[in-house]
Amino acid sequence: MVSIVVVAHSEELAVGVVKLASQMAGEESVPIFPAGGTEDGRLGTSFDKVERALQEALDEGDQVLILVDLGSAVMVTQMAIEALPSDAQDRVHMTNAPLTEGTIAAVVAAAGGEGIDGVRLAAEKALATPKVPELEPVEAAEAPSHEEPEAPSAEEPEAEGKSVEMTVPNPTGLHARPAARFVRTAMRFDAQITVQNVTHGRPRANAKSMMEVANTGTARQGERIRVTAEGDEAEKALEALRALVEDGFGEMEGEEQAAAESVETEAPEAERAEMPPETRQPAPEPASKEAGGLQGIPASEGFAVGPAFVYRPPALEVESRTVSDPSEEVVRLQRALEEAREQLTDLQADIAERDEEVAEIFEFQRMMLEDPTLVDGMEEEIREASSNAEAAAEMVTEEWERRLESGEDTLMRLRAADVRDAGNRVLRILLGMSEEQTLRSLPEPVVVVADELTPSDTAQMDREMVQALCMAGGGATSHVAILARMWSIPAVVGLGEEVLAIADGTPLAVDGHEGRVEVDPPEDVIREYEEQRKARAARLERAMAEREAAAVTRDGHRVEVVANVGDVASAREALEFGAEGVGLLRTEFLYLDRATVPDEEEQYGAYRAIADVMEQRPLIIRTLDVGGDKPLPYLDLEAEMNPFLGVRAIRLALRRPDLFQPQLRAILRAAEGRNVKVMFPLIATYAEVVQAKEALTEAHRTLAEEGVPHAETVDVGIMVETPAAALQADAIAPLVDFFSIGSNDLTQYTLATDRGNEELGYLFQALDPAVLRLIDRVIEAAHAAGKWVGLCGELAGRRRAIPVLLGLGLDEFSMTPRAVPEAKQIIRSLSLAEAKEIAQEALGMSTVEDVEGYLDAVLDDLEPPSAE
Ligand code: PEP
Ligand code: MG
Repeated sequence: MVSIVVVAHSEELAVGVVKLASQMAGEESVPIFPAGGTEDGRLGTSFDKVERALQEALDEGDQVLILVDLGSAVMVTQMAIEALPSDAQDRVHMTNAPLTEGTIAAVVAAAGGEGIDGVRLAAEKALATPKVPELEPVEAAEAPSHEEPEAPSAEEPEAEGKSVEMTVPNPTGLHARPAARFVRTAMRFDAQITVQNVTHGRPRANAKSMMEVANTGTARQGERIRVTAEGDEAEKALEALRALVEDGFGEMEGEEQAAAESVETEAPEAERAEMPPETRQPAPEPASKEAGGLQGIPASEGFAVGPAFVYRPPALEVESRTVSDPSEEVVRLQRALEEAREQLTDLQADIAERDEEVAEIFEFQRMMLEDPTLVDGMEEEIREASSNAEAAAEMVTEEWERRLESGEDTLMRLRAADVRDAGNRVLRILLGMSEEQTLRSLPEPVVVVADELTPSDTAQMDREMVQALCMAGGGATSHVAILARMWSIPAVVGLGEEVLAIADGTPLAVDGHEGRVEVDPPEDVIREYEEQRKARAARLERAMAEREAAAVTRDGHRVEVVANVGDVASAREALEFGAEGVGLLRTEFLYLDRATVPDEEEQYGAYRAIADVMEQRPLIIRTLDVGGDKPLPYLDLEAEMNPFLGVRAIRLALRRPDLFQPQLRAILRAAEGRNVKVMFPLIATYAEVVQAKEALTEAHRTLAEEGVPHAETVDVGIMVETPAAALQADAIAPLVDFFSIGSNDLTQYTLATDRGNEELGYLFQALDPAVLRLIDRVIEAAHAAGKWVGLCGELAGRRRAIPVLLGLGLDEFSMTPRAVPEAKQIIRSLSLAEAKEIAQEALGMSTVEDVEGYLDAVLDDLEPPSAE
């Protein structure tokens, strides 16, 4: 049975249409649900109402047809559909059929036992009733672009006009700044232009709409987009856009490229495992008050002391009214938008004087405020629902914010904060409020306390004066947390409302490592934090200055310090931070978040580009580590009860030569003339190593047979991530050239603790004596066989772990790029002899707390290496 949902701006209208249509069903009752008006009975549409009606309709029918009236009803309904689980989404269909006639026709068809296609067709043809001739001529008015339901692209008709298809080449992809350039270019031409992410089969987006390009039109590096244009200047437009994309949006040249992925590329930074401090620890309860202090979530490392500067932008209170003259409200709205755009232009010019990259946030927001999708949505809400400008502006920005927030993409989610920010600027103008209190010029060094900071708050912030950030809200991956880490400002988030009660000027001591904030602490605590801050700043500065120096202990033992990377940008970053190569290239980046398997050619291109960045430095390419916990929709993998114990990593590769062979061939081709090594993940048995090596031999063989240039030999290693592999290390060692310990998985499997389960954070401890003993055993077995051992889990970059790993005999430390300078410095501060003693001491301990306490004391006593 098909059930029906009617979404309208008025409760009375929706209920009336439902009553009328139900009567037409005759004896048969068809499940039909109204969702009209707002929760408090006003004109408008309510996400919650639509969501409830959809749920009821899904409970009653196999398939659901939704009829909507206009404007925000379309958007709210789309959002409610997007919020459903994917299997439910497949059962829900939206139609552009006329509301009254369509609903009646649909109910009659459903009562007659039609399936969803029949019911939808009946609804959509409903205007072909005798009423139509009287109403004609009807212009086939083009629906505003934001009203187009986001049908899956497979169902979308082919776009008219000419098109070009391209791969997005730049690391940032079609996001933020590149998206702004793309839209600006499109706007220059007299043509209707759309952009579609072909890799994900997303719907077409209006290329002149910042909102649509930032939402459905977005694409990552390596993804395919199709640009279609129709109209007088279609060809010129396509040519210009093609040149822009192929040129990497002007971001592809220059050494500073990676660094230049500044503010608008926060997410890649985050996604490159730039993890908040100590994420392995159980997330502290937000805002627990402990002995004179507050406990929050650590978001950016470092210590700071300073007086509180409590940032309290006035609350925006929007009342919604029914207006008698909507045109007047539209004019008010347009003026406010104009003023907001002017403010943003001034801000951009102002901030650009000190930081051009950051200033582009404002350009991005300004483009949002001239975007037809957003602006038309607001105007339509005013006209259709007789809303006042404030209520319409608030509603439409909130809808877009929600839509972007629920997106699958981190970058898209971060854009939600920009929409809110820009929308609030318009609201402040409409409400006659003065320019918000800003953090632009602060009189003295302060600790900023706030509920949350918007992107423009953070962009304008006087970074010289901000010692630390203490946020009531937010998580460790929030916008402000990401920026704080980028700018090395200590930050604690999730402190709860309590922190906002702190009076301006109250002395605060902030520990961004543990997530502690001491409120009005005694003198000695202030002194201690101040010392810690100075010591850390000096340590980092010195480590950075000496990042190119080798990691040689005081008694002349040299180890390698390399980086974990995921793409070209992070490989460049690794070199900037003094890494001596790559100890782990996670090749998943090529496979995740797309619709098809990357072919050999694409993989070869990607690996070769990274190998070229590394020149002759070692580059260890790990073969595909997906499946189970990281399912790829296009692989059609079975859902598993225990995905971490299921068909993942090497287990999947060995079953699927169609995946494994192209990857191995691509690696061997990229390895020609470069220092590339290959590494197999999640090995549990000797037999798996044998089989994986056979697969590699097969790849060599076919390449040689086809005469394709490739490396004749490459070093082969395995990741030791299971207790089984650790215990069998002596047996396996003769088969390989090296081991690399994956301490993240090794910890999870040794302690039988899901590494992502925050409830069990107290067990997921890589310094647990059990894990240390396995590491010890692996290194000993490998050295006995003359093989070297690296470690590429999080543990390698942790300060307190470095002495013990060095003492256990680790040969290579591979970590997130930014941890490299300090890791090298710690190694240079130690002698191998003392590290060995430290390791033996730690190995003899019974609890992880003892080990950590002991290692912290070791670090405290560490003298910096003497300058050469
Ligand atoms: C590990 O398990 O330690 C590791 C480096 O691999 P990943 O984190 O990618 O599973
Ligand atoms: Mg792993």
